[in-house]
Amino acid sequence: MRIAQVSAHTSPLAPLGGRETGGMNVYVLELSRELARLGYEVDIFTRLDGELPRVEQVAPNLRLVRIEAGPPTPIEKEEIVGHLPEFHRNMKRFAEEQPGGYDVIHSHYWQSGWAGTLLARELDLPHVVMFHTLGEVKNRARFGEQEPRLRIRHERTIARRATAIITASSHERLLLERYYGADPAAMHTVPCGVDLELFQPRDRSIARERLDLPAEAPVLLWVGRLEKLKGVEILVDAVAELERRDFTLLIVGGDERAASMRAELEAQAAAAGISANVRFEGAVSHDVLPWYYSAADVCVVPSYYESFGLVAVEAMACGTPVVASRVGGLVSTVIDGVTGYLIPWRCPGPFAEKLEVLLGNPELRANFSRAAQRSVERFRWSTVGLHIADVYDAARERHMRGRVIQEDAGGFGKEAWEAAILAR
Ligand code: UDP
Repeated sequence: MRIAQVSAHTSPLAPLGGRETGGMNVYVLELSRELARLGYEVDIFTRLDGELPRVEQVAPNLRLVRIEAGPPTPIEKEEIVGHLPEFHRNMKRFAEEQPGGYDVIHSHYWQSGWAGTLLARELDLPHVVMFHTLGEVKNRARFGEQEPRLRIRHERTIARRATAIITASSHERLLLERYYGADPAAMHTVPCGVDLELFQPRDRSIARERLDLPAEAPVLLWVGRLEKLKGVEILVDAVAELERRDFTLLIVGGDERAASMRAELEAQAAAAGISANVRFEGAVSHDVLPWYYSAADVCVVPSYYESFGLVAVEAMACGTPVVASRVGGLVSTVIDGVTGYLIPWRCPGPFAEKLEVLLGNPELRANFSRAAQRSVERFRWSTVGLHIADVYDAARERHMRGRVIQEDAGGFGKEAWEAAILAR
C-alpha cells in the first residue's frame, strides 16, 4: 500500500523545539518510519522552504517530497494559507506522475487537511485527517487567544468530508463531535507513539554531570515549544512559591523566534527573585533529551491545552514523574496519584503544592517512577503503527462503500474550495 502523508506547513525533518516544530513533526516522521518498516511505501509531502532536495530518501520505503508553494524560504504559518492552492496543484502533479499512485492520503493539521480533501476528491482516494490542534479548542482553552474564524470554518468542512479522522485522545474525539459535528462513525482514537528505545531511564548521576547540574539538589524540567498555550509562566510562578531555594528549573525549547517570550519569562523570574534558579537551555535535539528527563526529579507540563502531550509520555518513559494540567490528552496519559499529578486549575498554587510533595518525598518519587515506566508500554510505536494501519484499512473500505459523508447537497467544486481558502 502506498501512503501520502501531508504536512504542508512544517517539515518533519526540521529541528525540534522551534515555534512550529514540536509534537506533530515528531509524530509524522515516526509514524511514517513505522509504516515504512511494516512494508508500506510512504511519501511525506511538505512545502519547499530552502535550498533542499525536492525528493529525499529518508529510509527504505520512506521519502520526503518538498513541494513548491510560495517563496522557497521559511514563512509564517499564517502566510502559507494563501499558497495552499499552489501546494495542492503541485502535489497533485507529483502524485499523478507516480506509477501506481497512492492508496490513502493522510493529512496533518487543518492546512494540509484542506489540500488533502481536494486531492482525495480529485484522485478518488480515502482521506484520513488528523488535526493535532483545533482552532475552536484553542480559543476555548486560553482566554485572549483568538484563532481566525476561517480556520475553524475549514476545520469543520474538512472534518465532515473526511473518510476517517484520527484523534490522539478520547477528549479530542468528543470535541470534534460536539463543536465540529464530526461523524462518530468516521472517528478513530489512537494514541500517539513514543520511541521507547530512545526514551529510557539513564543513569541519574551521569545525566546530572553531563548537564552540569548539582548531584543532589532538586531539578525540575519543562520541555516544549515556547508558546503561550504552554503556560510556562504558571510554572515560573509556581516554583517561586516553593519554600526551598536549592532547586534548578530547566526550560528546554525555543529558538530565536521565541526570544520575546523568553525575555518575558526571564523578567518574571527576576521579579520573583529566582533568576539564579532558572536555566534556559534553548532547543535540544531528541537524541539528547533523555539525559534531561533522567536528570530531573519532576517534569512539569502546565499547558492550557494539549491534544496529546508527547513530553509527558517521554518523561514517564525515562522514569520521571509528571505534574501536569488536567487538560486534553494529558488526562489519558498521566495517571493521577500513580505516575504523577493532574492539576485541574491553571494557577501556580496547586502546582507548587504537588511539587513540594514530590520533592520532599524520594520514596514516593521512586514509586511514581516505576509506575510511569510501566504505564508507557501502550505508546510503543510497533503497537501504535498497527492501529493506524487498521484505520487505513477501515478508511479504504468506507471509501469503497461510497459512504463518504457529503456535507450538503451542493456538491463539491474545486473553484469554490479554492475561493474559500483565499477569501480572508
Ligand atoms: N522537543 C524537542 N526539543 C525541544 C523541545 C521539544 O525535541 O527543545 C520535542 C519534544 O521532545 C516532543 C515535541 O517536541 O517530542 C513536543 O511535543 P508535545 O506533544 O509535547 O507538544 P506540541 O509541540 O505538540 O505542542
